[in-house]
Amino acid sequence: IGCGLCVKKCPFKAIKIINVPEAKGEVVFQYGPNSFRLFSLPIVKMGKSIGILGPNGIGKTTAIKILSGQLKPNFGDYNKEYSWEEIIEKFKGTELQNYFELLSKGQIKVIHKIQEIQKLREVFKGKTVRELIKLDNPLLKEFGLDKILDRKIENLSGGELQKLLIYASLSKEGDVYIFDEPTNFLDIRERLRVALKIKALNKTKIVIDHDLLILDYIVELIHIAYGQKAAYGKFSQPKGNNTAINEYLKGYLKSENIRIRDFELYFLEGTEKERGKTIYLEWKPFTIDLGNFKLEAEKGEVYKKEIIGIVGPNGIGKTTFIRALKGDFDVKPIEKKITISYKPQYIEPKEVTVRKLFEQMNPNYRNEFYDSLLIRPLELYELFDHDLTTLSGGELQKVITAAALLKEADLYLIDEPTAFLDIEERVRIARAIRNIIKEKGKAAFVIDHDLMFMEYISDSIMVFEGEPSKYGKANKPLPIKEGLNLFLKNMGITIRKVNGRPRINEPGSRLDREQKAQGLYYY
Ligand code: ADP
Ligand code: ADP
Ligand code: MG
Repeated sequence: IGCGLCVKKCPFKAIKIINVPEAKGEVVFQYGPNSFRLFSLPIVKMGKSIGILGPNGIGKTTAIKILSGQLKPNFGDYNKEYSWEEIIEKFKGTELQNYFELLSKGQIKVIHKIQEIQKLREVFKGKTVRELIKLDNPLLKEFGLDKILDRKIENLSGGELQKLLIYASLSKEGDVYIFDEPTNFLDIRERLRVALKIKALNKTKIVIDHDLLILDYIVELIHIAYGQKAAYGKFSQPKGNNTAINEYLKGYLKSENIRIRDFELYFLEGTEKERGKTIYLEWKPFTIDLGNFKLEAEKGEVYKKEIIGIVGPNGIGKTTFIRALKGDFDVKPIEKKITISYKPQYIEPKEVTVRKLFEQMNPNYRNEFYDSLLIRPLELYELFDHDLTTLSGGELQKVITAAALLKEADLYLIDEPTAFLDIEERVRIARAIRNIIKEKGKAAFVIDHDLMFMEYISDSIMVFEGEPSKYGKANKPLPIKEGLNLFLKNMGITIRKVNGRPRINEPGSRLDREQKAQGLYYY
């Protein structure tokens, strides 16, 4: 059906998860009657750095809350509170027995960076950054928090709040550090910076994240979380990073002999893509002065069927650039009269159903083309009657991006489509964007901070450089490899490919030094 998810064997039955084993074994935790059930927990290996990889709604956060002592295992008896003695007895003979013994006696201090950071805007409303954190850690400056000490919590951006909480965790003394989705809201430069710091922390760590490059860099072992969204979840044995990531993408856990998906997630389609032959649109060099911020853009061109990926830190003018192409400012860089479809970064959900929204975007939204390339791969049918205001962050992201792709236009501008999406959804949305742009014979610009996603979706890369919030320079589009090389060079980080998958080199390591000496930042 061309959705690309079933690449090798096209079964026409795609998109339905089959073969997922029925939930078996003993329940570790259940929220309430007929609600989500958790069947196992990840193993905490003292001194190690453990990662958790899995889709949304599969129990990762629930498991973390149990390991941090916020929730107690209830073994399915959601009305009962078990004593620690009973809990330890239940885990007797497993690797978690010792952990719960120490946790119950208060001999393990857990530092937990929560996933739902926005909630803290309410909890600490009115407090300034200065009042909430220790000020004597050199990381304060490195994270740029010294500049926002007198700001109120409720006025911080998502990225600032995330950095603040990671900083707070790293400045506390504890035995086990848990980071639940530390890359959310962070730009690509901040992701790398935060990853280096978390990795350098010489303690027991558990990290959940959907950015594979970052997760792989921070942790030594990975548990795969699998099951059925919102119904039940389980954790695989811990596996080496390579094995875990490969098995996860393949959808088959070898040592458990379990198929968790009936298709592979292809994410590793090299950097060897060619830009097109026919120039589709050109833009003139231009400058935009917003008072405090100035953007300078080189001239450039986009080819027919091309997807141009845009990378750079926050506040460097990426959104301003695509808004300029859209005609939001006085300068009109594109002379040709064209129609544009735009997916903004921030989405205010309206009180309208998904069906109605799609109808408005394109009355033909139910045809075979969109059905096979967009609506089914993104599992949107089940959301048709939902109001936008009731959707989760990930659902809303899929719906709004789909709506932008449904609209008939000459040029598509997509700002940060991966926020709130799990890896499977990232692959599906990348496929959908590529398929639709290629099939329609149009072109697109995509801004995002997930580097693996960007390599996969882009035919060429534009690198934005400069000083965030002051000055930005938009380089012309470059072939992917060249673009990523320039981008990483600016950041001083080298990446090498192992079996097609990018991995970050340890700064200062032999590989890192050798690649830098040769100017190979993305190799
Ligand atoms: P993940 O972190 O993998 O995205 P969570 O552990 O947050 O998943 O949630 C797993 C499932 O448990 C979801 O279906 C969610 O709706 C449900 N759930 C989470 N918290 C609660 C709660 N307090 N009460 C009832 N159900 C919950
Ligand atoms: P990016 O998309 O790379 O994160 P933006 O293009 O959104 O960056 O913003 C670049 C800079 O321009 C930021 O410092 C932002 O605050 C500023 N800016 C954006 N829009 C306006 C505007 N309409 N007026 C003044 N400043 C703006
Ligand atoms: Mg979670």
